[in-house]
Amino acid sequence: MGISEFQLIRNYFAEGPVSIKRSDLILGIGDDAAIVSPYPDHELVVAVDTLVAGVHFPETMDPCDIGYRSLAVNLSDLAAMGAEPAWFTLALTLPDANEAWLHQFSQGLFELANQHQIALVGGDTTRGPLTISIQVLGYVPPGRALRREGAVPGDLIYVTGYLGDAAAGLDLQAGEGPVQQSYLQRRFSRPQPRLEVGQHLRSVAHAAIDISDGLLADVGHIAERSGVGAGIQLEKLPLSAELTGVCDTAKCIELALTGGDDYELCFCAPAESAPAIEKCSREFELPITCIGQIEAQPGVRLYNAEGELVERSPRAGYLHFK
Ligand code: ADP
Ligand code: MG
Repeated sequence: MGISEFQLIRNYFAEGPVSIKRSDLILGIGDDAAIVSPYPDHELVVAVDTLVAGVHFPETMDPCDIGYRSLAVNLSDLAAMGAEPAWFTLALTLPDANEAWLHQFSQGLFELANQHQIALVGGDTTRGPLTISIQVLGYVPPGRALRREGAVPGDLIYVTGYLGDAAAGLDLQAGEGPVQQSYLQRRFSRPQPRLEVGQHLRSVAHAAIDISDGLLADVGHIAERSGVGAGIQLEKLPLSAELTGVCDTAKCIELALTGGDDYELCFCAPAESAPAIEKCSREFELPITCIGQIEAQPGVRLYNAEGELVERSPRAGYLHFK
């Protein structure tokens, strides 16, 4: 590496783009470990996600977006738990100490970190194929975290934002060079972790998950953990005008169901919570759409506008009617 590991950490992570100060951080970067002093009467929520170049994002992606997205997908896990971000650590494996790359990466990373008042408190730096591992820690009031379990038959199933955009954006990303990014491309490169909505849902939702693998898989996780099933109405899936502008209806639905990478929240709430959810949607200026209902029978089922069961081809790509 050109610069030493210690210079690298100091320039880009300890003293680089200024990290926020927190009163619950005793000792940050520079010692053998960090020391934090959690506020009393809170539970800590802990999650970690690793992103491997060429697997979780294209190798050619803008380093600023790589930094932003690496933290965003982790913050999305805190959002899905209804947690409030506090600290994170960063284990970075780099092929070389490319300072231009590091500068941009840290800019994107701290842009999002500062926005959500989460402090970088430590990490590790090694040489190897580009891999970014981030661990996030956050707070919830005792016993109040949102879990995947807790959905009961009759609960309505909701999603935030629009589905399928990120998968369509990734397809576009693979094509062209560094041109001005479109809405769909930014939906992949800069997912918005729904932290405020997640915290708000603690008093509203029975169960929640963030949509990282695609709605079908992630609703399936809620159903499985809750010991119930789910019915999704295809015509209710929230699709952006940008997505419907570039794909036909069948493709849009397929992307919304299986595309993944949207990092929206999917949650289940009793019907009487509908007014509170509408209020939340207005307050945070984010569409929150009811897309179906929890059912007693295990499994995830799809319905058309007539309420008829729709069978999904295991080969994917299209839907056909039973
Ligand atoms: P050690 O050998 O004790 O693990 P390191 O040299 O790996 O120490 O790290 C020195 C300090 O720099 C530690 O406080 C560590 O948390 C921090 N650090 C290392 N790499 C990173 C990174 N990528 N981001 C943030 N902090 C880092
Ligand atoms: Mg170390």
